[in-house]
Amino acid sequence: MKIINYLKQNKFLSLVLLAYMVSFILRPQFAAQAFDNSAYYFIEMIQIMPMIFLLIVVIDVLIPKEVIINNLGEGSGFKGGILALVLGSISAGPIYAAFPVSKLLLKKGASIGNIVVILSAWAVVKVPMLANEAKFLGAEFMRTRWILTVISIFIMSAIVSAIVKKEDLPMDESSSELIVVNQAYCIGCGLCEKMGPILFEMVDGKAIVKQQPMVSKQIAAVENIAKKCPGNAIQIPSKVA
Ligand code: SF4
Repeated sequence: MKIINYLKQNKFLSLVLLAYMVSFILRPQFAAQAFDNSAYYFIEMIQIMPMIFLLIVVIDVLIPKEVIINNLGEGSGFKGGILALVLGSISAGPIYAAFPVSKLLLKKGASIGNIVVILSAWAVVKVPMLANEAKFLGAEFMRTRWILTVISIFIMSAIVSAIVKKEDLPMDESSSELIVVNQAYCIGCGLCEKMGPILFEMVDGKAIVKQQPMVSKQIAAVENIAKKCPGNAIQIPSKVA
């Protein structure tokens, strides 16, 4: 019964298992090859993911949020784009390893545009890949492709930033890095909304966080508002401050 419930909750996994079963019945050779491929990627993942989790812990614990915001956040501009390109280019490992790292960077204040640059560089202009490309196809081919690809990456980054907003992403709402207003302490004076209308708003006589601070200026503003809050209701996690 537990297995059936698990399969119901994980529809994609159930679909994959069903596809395996059908192909084992109809085309056993095809299914065996698919199984070999899956096993290959599974073993690759097991080898790579511990390193990625280690990298995530290092970024999470050792790099303050403000450093990420200043260097890869919304206001990081051209410098942020170049840093994102370098980070993606010098990375190692398959592209799926980049997703958990990207999610953490987003959570710590990196902009969507810079994440697009990191992911795209990671996927198509990694340094080891360029070296192989030059070896097999020639330096001119590699150089021309690199220039055109990098231009395309920055255009794509601008387009994705204009279309996708952070609120659209499935971020962990229970994150310990989110600023919250303790509703029990809020006396509804409205001071936070007056001082930071982009960040706070009043709903039914109590303040709520309208938008998490994205740039260092906004973090400083929230700290200032929290100090003046008469109910001492605005909680800023130490990782943010
Ligand atoms: S300033 Fe503090 S007490 Fe006043 S509305 Fe905002 S959170 Fe509530």
